[in-house]
Amino acid sequence: MKFEDYRIASEIKKNLVEAGFKKPTDIQFKAIPAILKGEDVLAIAQTGTGKTAAFAIPIVDVLNSRKVSSRAEGIKCVVMVPTRELAIQITGVFEKIAKHTKVKAFSVFGGVEQGPQIAQLEKGIDVLISTPGRMFDLVSQGHIKLNLVEMLVLDEADHMLDLGFIKDIQDLVKHLPKNRQTLFFSATINEKIKKLAYSLVKNAIRIQI
Ligand code: AMP
Repeated sequence: MKFEDYRIASEIKKNLVEAGFKKPTDIQFKAIPAILKGEDVLAIAQTGTGKTAAFAIPIVDVLNSRKVSSRAEGIKCVVMVPTRELAIQITGVFEKIAKHTKVKAFSVFGGVEQGPQIAQLEKGIDVLISTPGRMFDLVSQGHIKLNLVEMLVLDEADHMLDLGFIKDIQDLVKHLPKNRQTLFFSATINEKIKKLAYSLVKNAIRIQI
């Protein structure tokens, strides 16, 4: 199966060709159809497997398929990541896949001034990529509203737990609608990670690479 055979927008297919992506990787082959169908996913996959595009491709397609962009009303997808570097990297992947589509991705993270981040948030974005700490601060101050979020992604969940983000994640999830799609990605799995995963996903498709 090649990307050209997928039922995704032609603009996205063009972007994948430009990126040099012809065939889905293993994780993409398994995760993309499930995510397009609206399923929750629990995936054990390491960096280098193509896991970022495995969630970014279907998320961009789902949001791009809406007739009218409702970005001004609120964020539709939240991607929680452990580090600023990963936030920047994932935002780059979303921008590449979303080129010439209606979908706008943006990242916020700690260690820099909030002002420019708040200004961009006010313009409206579809996909927010963020570390849990900065996201928590901006939600508490009312600059980020999570009541319209339809999709939640946790990337490198094991790394987020190692960095002590569990409480921020749990507090943030309370602001999200219960009726949402949740995609949980972790490089490793143990009892603590399983507990967090199963508190967030519903009837998830399990994928191990
Ligand atoms: P990730 O695991 O998301 O960090 O991705 C690892 C690398 O694989 C990145 O440099 C991607 O650009 C690349 N990549 C992801 N999907 C594909 C694909 N289907 N074909 C070729 N390269 C890919």
